[in-house]
Amino acid sequence: MTERREVCLRCPGVELVPSGPFRPEIEFFDCPACQRRYALKPGRSLTFRWLHPISLLLYGILFDVNLVGRARALLQAAEQLPNQPNATRRMIDEIELELTQPTQQVRDILDNPQTEEQCRQFLREFVAKVRTALREDKRD
Ligand SMILES: [Zn+2]
Repeated sequence: MTERREVCLRCPGVELVPSGPFRPEIEFFDCPACQRRYALKPGRSLTFRWLHPISLLLYGILFDVNLVGRARALLQAAEQLPNQPNATRRMIDEIELELTQPTQQVRDILDNPQTEEQCRQFLREFVAKVRTALREDKRD
């Protein structure tokens, strides 16, 4: 256990609350203000916790070092989006926020084998693809 206080990466000055399960190899925290959930591995910086939309997306390329199946991964991720456009929009907004105002090394969330820039490029492609789909839905 560390005595260091962790602060939310999105809420200035808001201290995170430790969260379980409590294990030596990783610590978890919740933000009481925005409800974002974080993970911290020894010697690393704070990242979003598993199940954050970014983690779900990067899981799709976790075993695809050279991104040969990128197009398929994008398609699979799009198929897993919530059915409600508003829920999808919230998810995309959250991913886009990290792209425009970075708070962490997203590749560290799951230890992706790609570079940070490759991970972010994948997220950018996904956001663009879904934004286009949402606009097309609206025209119906
Ligand atoms: Zn927060």
